[in-house]
Amino acid sequence: MQITEIYKSLQGESTHAGLPCVFVRLTGCNLRCSWCDSEYTFQGGRRMTASEVMNEVRRLMATPGLVEITGGEPMLQERELLPLMDLLLAAGYRVLLETSGERPLTRVPAEVIKIVDVKCPDSGEGETFALENLNALQPHDEMKFVIASRADYEFAREFSRQHDLSRRVTAVLFSPAFRKDATGARDSSHCLLDPQQLAEWMLEDDLPARLGMQLHKFIWDPAVKGV
Ligand code: SF4
Repeated sequence: MQITEIYKSLQGESTHAGLPCVFVRLTGCNLRCSWCDSEYTFQGGRRMTASEVMNEVRRLMATPGLVEITGGEPMLQERELLPLMDLLLAAGYRVLLETSGERPLTRVPAEVIKIVDVKCPDSGEGETFALENLNALQPHDEMKFVIASRADYEFAREFSRQHDLSRRVTAVLFSPAFRKDATGARDSSHCLLDPQQLAEWMLEDDLPARLGMQLHKFIWDPAVKGV
C-alpha cells in the first residue's frame, strides 16, 4: 500500500485523546475538504507491504497499544489495508480507522474502531457520507463532525438526531474546524468557529454529543506534521 508516514504521538481526537498512539497515514484522498490539513498526503508516499508496516509499528510501539489508520482516505486502499488490520489485531493492537465514510465500511473487521468523519456543508464535501455505512456501525465506533459555521452545526445536529447516533455509537464528536494554514500560537485563535460558541450551542440544544478539540494542535505548533 502507499504510505505517507508512520509515527508515534499522542492521540489528539476522539475518546482516545491523550493516549500514546502510532499513526499509519495512507496516501491519497478522493475528497478535497476546504479546511484539510493533510493535503501533503494527496500524492507521493512510498509503497510498503502489510508486514513492513507491521514491523515499523512494532519498532515504534513494542508493547501493543493504540494504532490509528488514517490518511488521506485509507479505505481507498481497502484491498491491502484489510490484511494489515488483521495483522494488527492478531498482534494485540487496538486499531482505530479514521475515514470519511464515503467508501463502503462493511468489510472492516468488527474489532476495528471506526471514527467516521461525516462531512458538513462548509467543507465543500457535504453529502459524501454513504448512508448505507450507518448499518456497518458498531457500538464502539465514533461519529465526528468538523464544524466551521452555524450551518455546519445545524447539519450535524439534525443528522445526529435523525439517525439517533448517540444510541448507535459510543461517542458523537463535534469539533471546531481549524484554519489549515494555522501556525504559531497553540490556542483556539486558529479555529474557524470559536469553541465557546460551539459549546454554547451544544448546551442550548442539550445535545448528547461531545465537544472535541484537536489536542495535538494545543501541544505542538499547529503547522508541525508527524505529531
Ligand atoms: S477527507 Fe480528510 S484527507 Fe481527505 S480532503 Fe477531507 S480532511 Fe483532507
